[in-house]
Parts: sequence; structure tokens; C-alpha cells
Amino acid sequence: MPSPIPLNAGSTDNSSVPAVSMESVSKWYGKFQVLHDINLNVRAGEKVVVCGPSGSGKSTLIRCINQLEVHQSGIIRVNGTEVRQGMKGLAEVRRDAGMVFQHFNLFPHLSVLDNCTLALVRARKMTKSAAEEVAMENLNKVRIPEQARKFPTQLSGGQQQRVAIARALCMKPRVMLFDEPTSALDPEMIKEVLEVMTSLADDGMTMICVTHEMGFARQVADTVVFMDAGRIVEAAPPAKFFDAPENERAQKFLGQLL
Ligand code: ADP
Ligand code: MG
Repeated sequence: MPSPIPLNAGSTDNSSVPAVSMESVSKWYGKFQVLHDINLNVRAGEKVVVCGPSGSGKSTLIRCINQLEVHQSGIIRVNGTEVRQGMKGLAEVRRDAGMVFQHFNLFPHLSVLDNCTLALVRARKMTKSAAEEVAMENLNKVRIPEQARKFPTQLSGGQQQRVAIARALCMKPRVMLFDEPTSALDPEMIKEVLEVMTSLADDGMTMICVTHEMGFARQVADTVVFMDAGRIVEAAPPAKFFDAPENERAQKFLGQLL
């Protein structure tokens, strides 16, 4: 009888390669060491929330993953490929790791639809109509297909951030990096963006999110990483992190949120 399980099950499966790994990564801005010996492994499908005080290095850490910032020592891999400044294929790695910023960073002179199709047409060499199809699919996913013909300034902050998420999703990234995606939003818009992020998580997207939204962290994260002064000082499942943090700075940080 044929075996239903291939002999090499699991061994060549991509899920055995971490989506993102950082090994002993350090970074300096001039003489100032901003990241100290960062070790982080993110499995395919894992959701990691990064939190910590302002200035602790959260943005720098996440920006090193797609080399928007350059690290000086240690190894960073995205889906098994080492990322380095000047490497061949850096553009592909960046497309594999979609980034969403605090201030949306949409192109103001382009419509919502064109914001989403630009990279598909330019980098992926798709026809305009094929790109528009992909864009509409993702605008549907973030629940604003009706805004496709508008320009960013005609949208609310929450809508703009959802466009930014849709634009990143158009590249079919294997991991999504979020840097405080709701910090610039009015309270009533935070919810709509978190809902979109939660549904992405439910779809199985690998996510690394810098956020202070602890409700989201509790609900969505597999792992909460707490940074202090350029170091990861605690990494734990949310139940453990919120209910029994070990690190003193983490305890203080959580105390201040209450
Ligand atoms: P966080 O996102 O946790 O607030 P950042 O990664 O933005 O922290 O910054 C960490 C530290 O590095 C801060 O002390 C900040 O002032 C410093 N820093 C950030 N960007 C630069 C830069 N381009 N040049 C010099 N110092 C920087
Ligand atoms: Mg930051």
C-alpha cells in the first residue's frame, strides 16, 4: 500500500526555515551602540509583538530586517537568505518582507490604486490590468475597495494605513513588518487597522509588529519581545509576559500602561 506520508515530510518543508532570524546582531549609529547582540527567531506563521520604551531600538531592529538600516555585526536571514547591504537580490528580500510605517508613507501624487500597482508594474513587470486586479483583491482584504480612485489626502488616517497594508500585501510578502502602525491614528481609527491586522494574522501571515497596543499583543501574538536600551531583555508568550514578566524594566513598563 502506498504510504500517504512522503518520506521526506518536514525535512524540505519551507516552514522548517525561520521566516526571520537574527544571530548576535549589533548596530551602531556612529559611536552609539543602538542594538546589542540581538538574537531572534521567527517561525513561518508566527506573530511577534515587539514592545519597550521609546528609544529602546524597536524601529532600528525591525528596519535592519529589510536593511532600511545597516547592521555592523551578526547575521540576519529572511527565509534562509542572509541579508546584507549591497547584496544581490536585496530588492527581492525587501519585497518578501513587507513594511508598514507609522506615517503610512503613501505616494501623495498617486491614487490609492496606483499606490498599490506601482511596484507590481515597475518591479514585477505586470500588465497594468493584471496589477489592478491584484490591487483590488488586496483593497478588498483591507475593506476599502470603494476608495481605489481617491488620493491619499482624501482618506482618513485609518484608511490610509489600510491602503499601506494593502500595498505591502500586493507583493505577496512572506513576512509583514509593522512599525507602530496605529501610533499616528486617532483612537476611533486604531480599531479598524487592528482588525485588518488581526484578520491577516488569522490568515496565517508571519508578522513582526512594533506596537503599544497590548490588547492586540495579548490576542494575536505568539511571542512578545520586550526591548530595553538596545537589548531584548524578555521574550515570552503573552500569557507569561503580561501575567508574570521576569524582567524588572518589563514589569515597570507594564505597570505604567495600567
Ligand atoms: P524606538 O523605535 O524603540 O523608539 P529607535 O530604534 O528609533 O527606538 O532608536 C533607538 C535609539 O537610536 C534612540 O536613542 C535614537 O535616538 C537613536 N537613533 C535612531 N535613529 C538614529 C539615527 N539615524 N542616528 C543616530 N541615532 C539614532
Ligand atoms: Mg520607533
